[in-house]
Amino acid sequence: RQRYVVYSPNIDDEYWNQRYLRDKFSEAIEKKWINVFYQPIIRADSGKICNFEALARWIDPVKGMIAPDMFIPVLEKYHLIPQLGAYMLEQVIQQVNIRAASGIPLEPVSVNLSVLDFEANDMVSLIVNLLKKYDVAAKWIVVEITERDIAQTVSVFKQQIKALRRHGIQVWVDDFGSGYSALNVLNQYEFDLLKLDMQFLRQLDENRGANRVIIKSIVCAAHELGIRTLTEGVETEAHHRFLKEVGCDKEQGYYFSKPRPMEELLGEGMRLPRETEEEAHRYESRF
Ligand code: C2E
Ligand code: MG
Ligand code: MG
Repeated sequence: RQRYVVYSPNIDDEYWNQRYLRDKFSEAIEKKWINVFYQPIIRADSGKICNFEALARWIDPVKGMIAPDMFIPVLEKYHLIPQLGAYMLEQVIQQVNIRAASGIPLEPVSVNLSVLDFEANDMVSLIVNLLKKYDVAAKWIVVEITERDIAQTVSVFKQQIKALRRHGIQVWVDDFGSGYSALNVLNQYEFDLLKLDMQFLRQLDENRGANRVIIKSIVCAAHELGIRTLTEGVETEAHHRFLKEVGCDKEQGYYFSKPRPMEELLGEGMRLPRETEEEAHRYESRF
C-alpha cells in the first residue's frame, strides 16, 4: 500500500526543458527569438489566398526551432501567455503596416488568443490601441479563440467578443468540434467563422463516412446562422475536392502551404494566387 514512482530520464529532460522555456521567455520576446510564421488560408471556390493565420515559432539560439505545442503549455502553466498574445498582436499589426506602406496587397491576418489573454488584459483596448499606433484598419486583424477556451468561460468573453466585433474585428472559433463543447456555443455568442477541427478530415472515410456527413451538416448549420466555415488540416486533393463540393468557404492545410515566414511567402516562390480586394469584397458580402 506504499506509493512509488518510477523514475525515467524523460522526467528529468521534461523538467529541464520546461525550466529553460520559462526562464528564457522574457529574453525570447525581447530578442525576438519568437517569430511570426504565416499559413495561407484559401477560398475553396477560387483556390486563391484570402487570409493568413499567424503562428508563433520560437527560434532558439541553443535549441533551434521550438513548436508552439512545446512552449505554449509551459507558458500557460506559468501564466506567461498574455505576454505572448500581446507580443504576437504587435508583431502582426506592425507587419501589416509595413506591407501596406510598401504597397503590397493585404489579406486579413488571424492571431490566436487564449482565455488567459482575456482574463489578464482588456483585449479590446489593447488591440484597438495597437491598430491606432500602427495606423492599421480593424478589418485586417482577426481573433481566433479555441472552442475549449470558449466552453470554459462565459462572462469574461461575452462582452469582449461583442466589443471586438463592434470595432470591426472578426472573431473566429478555432478547433470547432474538437470535443470540449457542443453546438450550444453557437446560441450564446456571435461569431464570424467556425474553423472545423482537423480531426474531421483525418477519418473522412471511417464509420461509413460519418465525418463527411458531419462536416456537411456543420457547414449547412453555420450558413443558416450567418456564420462562415473553414476546415483546417487539408492535406490532399481529395480533401480539397470534398470541401469545395459541400460548400465549406475556406480551407487551410499542408496541401496548400505550411506556415512560413512572410518574406518567403511573398517571395518569388509563391505559387498560390491571391485574391484581389474586389474579389474579397464580393465573396465576403454575399452569402
Ligand atoms: P491552431 O491555431 O489550430 O493552428 C493550426 C495548427 O495546425 C498549426 O500548428 C499548423 O502548423 C498546423 N497545421 C496546419 N495545416 C496542417 C495540416 O495540413 N496537417 C497538420 N497535421 N497540421 C497542420 P502549430 O503552428 O504547431 O500550432 C499549434 C497550436 O498552437 C495552434 O493550433 C494554436 O492553438 C497554438 N498557437 C500557435 N501560435 C500561437 C500564439 O501565438 N498564441 C496562442 N495562444 N496559441 C498559439
Ligand atoms: Mg488557430
Ligand atoms: Mg485549430
